[in-house]
Amino acid sequence: MSVEGSSVAIVGGGISGLVCAVRLGQLGIRNTTVFDTGKNAPGGRCSSRLLQSGQTHYVFDHSTQYFTVTDQRFSKIVSYLHAKGAVKIWTGPIGHLRDNGQFEKDQTLTQAFVGTGGMCSIPQCLASMVHVRRPVWVGEVVWEEGSKKWNVGGQGYFDYLVIAHNGKCADRLMANAGVPRIHKLLQVRFGSRLVPKDLRMQLCSLWVLLAIFPTSLKLKYQGAHVDGGIISWVANNTAKLSAGTTQSTGGSCVGQECWTVFSTRDFAATNKVPQENIPPSKRREVTNKLLSEFGRVTGLGDRLPKPSKTFVQLWGAAVPMNTLETSEECVFDGLHHVGVCGDWLVSPCIQGAAISGLALAEHIHKHASGLGTDSPLLQKFRPASSEMIGAFPTDPNMMFNPKK
Ligand SMILES: Cc1cc2nc3c(=O)[nH]c(=O)nc-3n(C[C@H](O)[C@H](O)[C@H](O)COP(=O)(O)OP(=O)(O)OC[C@H]3O[C@@H](n4cnc5c(N)ncnc54)[C@H](O)[C@@H]3O)c2cc1C
Repeated sequence: MSVEGSSVAIVGGGISGLVCAVRLGQLGIRNTTVFDTGKNAPGGRCSSRLLQSGQTHYVFDHSTQYFTVTDQRFSKIVSYLHAKGAVKIWTGPIGHLRDNGQFEKDQTLTQAFVGTGGMCSIPQCLASMVHVRRPVWVGEVVWEEGSKKWNVGGQGYFDYLVIAHNGKCADRLMANAGVPRIHKLLQVRFGSRLVPKDLRMQLCSLWVLLAIFPTSLKLKYQGAHVDGGIISWVANNTAKLSAGTTQSTGGSCVGQECWTVFSTRDFAATNKVPQENIPPSKRREVTNKLLSEFGRVTGLGDRLPKPSKTFVQLWGAAVPMNTLETSEECVFDGLHHVGVCGDWLVSPCIQGAAISGLALAEHIHKHASGLGTDSPLLQKFRPASSEMIGAFPTDPNMMFNPKK
């Protein structure tokens, strides 16, 4: 096998899978295909959703809200995305809404980044550099020992397989793939609190409410992690994304304000339903509860205007509560030509996912070059240090200067 001649199938077009594909291309492995289920776009948990009110479509960030940079490798990616016009700095104000209703600006936050046209701009930019096939749901993969190739259900044979997703899907996909040690690492438990004795990956769920208000709420913050109650995060999507984010087809959008509201993990666990098939009564119940709580935490109470449009969604496999204890930042089994990348291997955030994708690309490249590089496959997890919606590591020495 040669570097140029190697083919790679990446199952998952979130940040980790896309970054892995881009890096493989830079290393000379260009015969790479990313398979992703996204109907409208790739990106997974880094994506945006359109909501229509009247004649106007509004862009909402319905998963990742913003991200930070502390790693030099990730900083290079962010510089590239910035140069391509895919990311910008969000100056906020961003902080915490305390139990007493006071907003405290996050003093430790050095710089926050967002996608220019919503978070979807980031995967869009990365996907433009690689071959993505979607919407494709890969339902079966089998390692064929004789040919030393992966049979990727209905999509052909590949020299390497990358699993760039987690949750129930990855667990099921790898259950009969012929690599039990890799499958063991992908087994997952869902809950709202970490159970330290449980040796599996543990994921929480989050409800998301998107609301278009007919007038500005005139709140002094744009994004806030919320203490107490049933809400963990609120963001003024309109202010964050500012100009250029509505796809107007006529009509007026003056004064409208779009807010994203996330539940807590506990609320999501208590109100868990199948995310693909949410009963209408549960939609109404969750919408009403989150809206009323939004009124309470913002101090607007009864003065909160009735939204002209709302949408609720459940992220069943939202944020990892633990990460695999490995210094490799990914998992790679050279004997079976299979690797795993994703946020749960580094840190539950965009930076973590990107670094994991980069690390796995390096492993595959080394292996294809004839240098054996297995990573240890120990099933040992450590608690993830993060806010409820993900990690936001900061380093005052890592300031991004767009002019450089
Ligand atoms: C509600 C929410 C808020 C968050 N907020 C933040 C934040 O503000 N900042 C931050 O840094 N991080 C945040 N995160 C975490 C962040 O989104 C993730 O860490 C990151 O996006 C993970 O990327 P990934 O590539 O590891 O996985 P994913 O984004 O989950 O990508 C996996 C992809 O694989 C696809 N897939 C799955 N199974 C298959 C299959 N069988 N065949 C084909 N494709 C498949 C999925 O559709 C998906 O597109 C948030 C997450 C959630 C859910």
